[in-house]
Amino acid sequence: MRFINDYLGFATKFKVLIENNPLLNSNEATKNLLVRFQKRDNEHKLYWSDIEDAPFFSSGPIEFCNGEKRIGYNETIINETRLDETEQYALIFHEIGHFLYPRQTQDKTSGIKIELLCDEFSRQILGSSVVINALEKIYPFVAEDKVADITERILILKNKE
Ligand SMILES: [Zn+2]
Repeated sequence: MRFINDYLGFATKFKVLIENNPLLNSNEATKNLLVRFQKRDNEHKLYWSDIEDAPFFSSGPIEFCNGEKRIGYNETIINETRLDETEQYALIFHEIGHFLYPRQTQDKTSGIKIELLCDEFSRQILGSSVVINALEKIYPFVAEDKVADITERILILKNKE
């Protein structure tokens, strides 16, 4: 997996780690994947995502030209949530997790399972506490129907600390 551009120095800082990550390298979907960071704000709505409450999100199953995929970032929400650099990295690794574990259905049970797998991917790279801190910061901003999921995600991470 390779980044086409950079955001907050993530691509530069984790280039070698990402290139050598056994999970990313053994997975057909991520092995040769090109990923682009794309800004989302009121002037730059992304047609592939209508998520209003997330600081980061991925283009999921949608492929752009050259098979590239995207990680969107919303600077307004990033500023509101006061995520620091490392917490943002944790959420970006979570989004990379979504390329490893694509959503199969809209079924809510499998949805939370995928979120847990993506948190685990991020946790294995950056450790529990930074992922927990990131989730605790976004918690007050998430839509009502996601509060239960975030609570469960934080609880599971705390059990692994
Ligand atoms: Zn997710």
